[in-house]
Amino acid sequence: MSEKSISAAEWQVMRVVWAHSGSTSNYIIRTLQEGFDWQPATIKTLLGRLRKKGYLEMEKIETTYHYRPLMSEEAHLNEQIRLLLDSMCSTKHAYLVQEILQAGQFSQKDLVAIENRAREQKKLAPERVACHCLKGQCTCGCHR
Ligand SMILES: [Zn+2]
Ligand SMILES: [Zn+2]
Repeated sequence: MSEKSISAAEWQVMRVVWAHSGSTSNYIIRTLQEGFDWQPATIKTLLGRLRKKGYLEMEKIETTYHYRPLMSEEAHLNEQIRLLLDSMCSTKHAYLVQEILQAGQFSQKDLVAIENRAREQKKLAPERVACHCLKGQCTCGCHR
């Protein structure tokens, strides 16, 4: 389990900082208030927590505070994906991907890239996926 995991609200704050590195707290507050019913004090609390978790750094330039990401969006997404995959039986990874395909939004170009990736993976894929679960957590049928 990652100690660095962040809440859904903290994630929304990070999206502003990822999109606009060096944002001031006023800019972050204004941006988020367009879509969320959050008070400035709440957003400042979230910024403080993200600093403690090492997700961003704060720099004071003259009288204003500027925020910069220390964790990249890509690294964060990869960590979340890894966490999700590690939390379930490996025989259910295909279910996860199919549900994402069903629920997500993809362009023609995206789907071609996904098809190509699946074709590449198929060359190396085993006949059956091996399970690494605890016996009592799994229903795959491999555990005696
Ligand atoms: Zn399993
Ligand atoms: Zn199993």
